[in-house]
Amino acid sequence: MGTDASALEDICPFVRERVNAFLDHELDEPTADLVRQHLAECEDCADEAATWDLIRSVLKRAYRPSPAPPSLIERVTAQIHAAEKAEAAASAASGSPGVSSAVDVPSASRS
Ligand SMILES: [Zn+2]
Repeated sequence: MGTDASALEDICPFVRERVNAFLDHELDEPTADLVRQHLAECEDCADEAATWDLIRSVLKRAYRPSPAPPSLIERVTAQIHAAEKAEAAASAASGSPGVSSAVDVPSASRS
């Protein structure tokens, strides 16, 4: 039961372009279905979706209380980049999804 890698590769870019819209529930039903189905069978894209999900929750936390000061946004962006790098390194090394602890928004500083 080999997975059809070429078919998967074909749809991966399509899915990744739509992961954000998918998480926002902005896709129409058939497309959302396609993405959902693909995420279920493609680990790479599911990983991508999980990363986006994490980034989005961080951003939401950062934005929700009040318009965040630019410094906070910068810091969050930097953390996201760091997390992306860490994840890339981690998945290159072992394939473990070790992002969650890397991204932690300090909730204290609001001036
Ligand atoms: Zn994929």
